[in-house]
Amino acid sequence: MLGLMMHSQLTLTTVMAHARKFHGDAEVVSVTADVPLHRYRYREAFARAAQLAHALQALGARIGDRVGTLAWNDYRHLEVYFGAACMGLVCHTINPRLFPEQIDFIVNHAEDRWLFVDPAFIPLLRGLQDRLPTVERFVILGPAAAAENCGLRDAVSYESLLEGLPGHFDLPALDENTACSLCYTSGTTGNPKGVLYSHRALVLHTYAALMPDSMNLSCREVVMPVVPMFHVNAWSIPYGAAVVGAKLVFPGPRMGDGEALQKLIESEAVTLTAGVPTVWLALLGYLEKTGKRVPSLKRVIVGGSACPRSLMEAFEERHGVHVQHAWGMTEMSPIGTLNSPTADWDSLGAEEQWALRLKVGRPVFGVDVKIVDPDGREVAWDGESFGSLKVRGPWICSAYYRLDGSDAHAEDGWFETGDVATIDARGFVAITDRTKDVIKSGGEWISSIDLENTAMAHPGVAEAAVIGAAHPKWAERPLLCVVRKPGVDVSRDELLAFFDGKVAKWWIPDDVVFVDELPHTATGKLSKKDLRDRMSGYRFPGT
Ligand code: AMP
Repeated sequence: MLGLMMHSQLTLTTVMAHARKFHGDAEVVSVTADVPLHRYRYREAFARAAQLAHALQALGARIGDRVGTLAWNDYRHLEVYFGAACMGLVCHTINPRLFPEQIDFIVNHAEDRWLFVDPAFIPLLRGLQDRLPTVERFVILGPAAAAENCGLRDAVSYESLLEGLPGHFDLPALDENTACSLCYTSGTTGNPKGVLYSHRALVLHTYAALMPDSMNLSCREVVMPVVPMFHVNAWSIPYGAAVVGAKLVFPGPRMGDGEALQKLIESEAVTLTAGVPTVWLALLGYLEKTGKRVPSLKRVIVGGSACPRSLMEAFEERHGVHVQHAWGMTEMSPIGTLNSPTADWDSLGAEEQWALRLKVGRPVFGVDVKIVDPDGREVAWDGESFGSLKVRGPWICSAYYRLDGSDAHAEDGWFETGDVATIDARGFVAITDRTKDVIKSGGEWISSIDLENTAMAHPGVAEAAVIGAAHPKWAERPLLCVVRKPGVDVSRDELLAFFDGKVAKWWIPDDVVFVDELPHTATGKLSKKDLRDRMSGYRFPGT
């Protein structure tokens, strides 16, 4: 027997319609290149998204066309998110920090018809445009002057494109499985791969993101996504904020700037923010240097790479800001797990709480997880046994965009994350490594992430990375690579002694190499592959 419920499609159009109807007064504040602090309300944002839909229609847009963006977090990018997706197009966010060859590959692979470009990226595209034959027009995200003599093919400014167009658009009735956005994930090997999100996936993901033990967004929050809008839809924050009517604050090009972030938090009374660990180091460094405060800030969601305890402590002890650890990936829209206190939290000792908080939390409803050994057998949930982490659920990718045969990885209905994890009896997941980064010493696995977190707790360490280096007896042993904090002279032996009692004895790295800087990927994560390449000639002392 079928239920007797109305059948309505789960689309971002319903998110936009709801926000326009019920949260029209909520504010959106943005830093942009042309307006230092732009301010308007949701009502206007969605009216302008409708203007954009008219403009794209006039340009001949057809359902399914890809609209590329190379843009910072700001109100115009928000308008493209909703305007393009709700008329049935695909908002294709591109990471401007990728190598030009990767951007070239991605735009051609996606066959973007238009590129919406922040003025800061005009020089980058000038050098690339002749290699992007599918791009019919470049739209410069700024006022009329921004597109003048910019040197890009048939360039028009965003504001000229919208000028005079109606603020209402008859949006098509879309099937919920229609594609709405596209984000390429760049692994360390091979070409970037496209993850194509559907309206349904993002609406369900947004529900999950909003739940109390998840991101717990409400209309009383002032939320500042510092995770870029070019990275997995800024973890869905723009959609979640629209559903609940939270004020949005966008830092624009100033995302990595501690001073700008502090100013915005203070002036806009930001309560919640989210981003990868590196950006918080910049903010904390600035607060430490200047003695400035962030009194309105209550919570920071940290994910994208492991959050060191030292970072959590700095926020909590010095600024009273709760740090919530999260894990996910581009292929998961991105949320998989979030770390929130359990019902028995208060009865746990402080160290027990810390041990749990350093894990990435428990899966949100909608995401199922398992860990398996190399033969595909499930590994025990004892908090110690390592296994390859697999996931499944309605917002997890089933195949990569236009990559023949790429759905093979999901043939058993599970997506292989490429992460190695432990899960404890209560379902807390701890990410111990990427499959490619795990260190195998004498056949046993050592977690490079645990070792990095331990090293990061030393006051003389600015950044640490641990890789497996070849060893004649053990096959591999951990090698610690460290960037020292300026002005602090920490030695190899002191650092190695620091691990005593903190990790199993046989996990302690065999050597330390001091470096001026560590290589990072375009999303700000440590690039272990590059580090391994750099260290390929390394030999452990005495071997
Ligand atoms: P991306 O698709 O670029 O967002 O990268 C996803 C990958 O980042 C995951 O598969 C993990 O390897 C890593 N990652 C994300 N969040 C965390 C976390 N909290 N701790 C450790 N690694 C993480």
